[in-house]
Amino acid sequence: MSILVTGGGRGIGRAIVELVAGGEEPVAFTWRTDEGVARELEAASGARAFRLDVCDAAAVSEVVRTVEAEVGPCTGLVNNAGVRAEGLLAMTPDEDWARVLEVNLTGAFRACRAVLPGMLHRRKGAIVNVASLAAVAGVPGQAAYAASKAGLLGMTRSLAREVGRRSVRVNAVLPGFVATDMTSDVPPETVARLRTGECLPSGTAASDVAEAVAFLLSDRARAITGQALIVDAGCTA
Ligand code: NAP
Repeated sequence: MSILVTGGGRGIGRAIVELVAGGEEPVAFTWRTDEGVARELEAASGARAFRLDVCDAAAVSEVVRTVEAEVGPCTGLVNNAGVRAEGLLAMTPDEDWARVLEVNLTGAFRACRAVLPGMLHRRKGAIVNVASLAAVAGVPGQAAYAASKAGLLGMTRSLAREVGRRSVRVNAVLPGFVATDMTSDVPPETVARLRTGECLPSGTAASDVAEAVAFLLSDRARAITGQALIVDAGCTA
């Protein structure tokens, strides 16, 4: 048995790796750009690190094969790898649109496709897709990002219906604003606007998202599938 987390080297993915690596199942995570950071996390957490760009379809299948052979059959998958793009739709070049869809949506599709044969065969599996509040709430300048995350949500629900009969669960978490590298260039006034409406003064940390992911991966969530769990400090309450 194993849990695979994509984009686990930093940010929310790293928080997920750090949390679930303390559990019963061995954990594998993927990194793309910073091997040093990945190896340091590997040593600290005991999780195994594998290089992967989710835009490389063959590599996604290959990494899943390797993880299943070296770490254990995949019973958990967290599609966390993602990129953010900022820009008005009217000014968005085709390449930017395609890149965001490719990483955030197609990458997750490929990882699901790669782990599903084993999960369906074993009649056991939990997939958690890291979407975003942008999937359900309009944010100006994020049309491509929102489209990718709304697509991920649609895929989550449809796939949950496809694979539920084999006891494979598929859910999404929708984080609100989380301070990570991805959001480090968001101007303070925009951060304040994005956080307007949060009920809880502490906001949402990467570790809070990780707790929700760990729950949905676990058997404690055995009756939950096809759902979108919003983790936003009450922003949408
Ligand atoms: P982050 O710190 O920028 O981390 C993004 C992760 O995705 C990195 O590990 C990165 O790996 C990986 N990644 C990017 N492109 C990839 C590719 N082509 N192939 C494989 N891995 C790739 O961002 P984050 O805030 O932790 O975001 C994690 C997830 O949460 C994303 O899906 C994001 O959309 C979602 N989310 C974030 C927020 C927020 O406010 N931060 C809110 C809602 C949802 P490298 O470092 O190697 O590039």
